[in-house]
Amino acid sequence: MRKELQEILYESFPKLFERRHLSKQETAMCYGISCGDGWFSIIYNLCDVIQSKIDQANISYENSLVRQESEDFDEEKTSSFGYRPMKQVYVDQLKSKFNGMRFYLHEYNCDPFIVGAISMAERQSRWVCQHCGEVKVHPSTHDSCKTDVNQAWLKERTKENL
Ligand SMILES: [Zn+2]
Repeated sequence: MRKELQEILYESFPKLFERRHLSKQETAMCYGISCGDGWFSIIYNLCDVIQSKIDQANISYENSLVRQESEDFDEEKTSSFGYRPMKQVYVDQLKSKFNGMRFYLHEYNCDPFIVGAISMAERQSRWVCQHCGEVKVHPSTHDSCKTDVNQAWLKERTKENL
């Protein structure tokens, strides 16, 4: 993915992409986002959905703690009114594999919302050309694309293995 687009993702979701500064022994994110520009919107929306969910959950939790203190509920002192904090997740690898996007987190997070969002985005990517962003008739080919899909795929792989 071209630098300009990667920068938009890094600037919009600094927490999610925090691990990109680490070494190649620690994370594959040091290679950047290893897929074509055509998946930019799918990736942007996935990151947005995940980060907003985490932020909202943590804001609700913080607010519930404040409310608890000010309202002095004896029996509910430890309940947080049912709100739970949510752990921040970090992207460890973002690449193309078998014509689909792969979005790997640093530690597997079994939160059903996050699992569902990633699963949806990965499936959607199979039907969108990662090079031109158009919807494909068949998941494995995109004949109308001006980019030589195999060449571009190789290019992305080479970039990834630099
Ligand atoms: Zn295409």
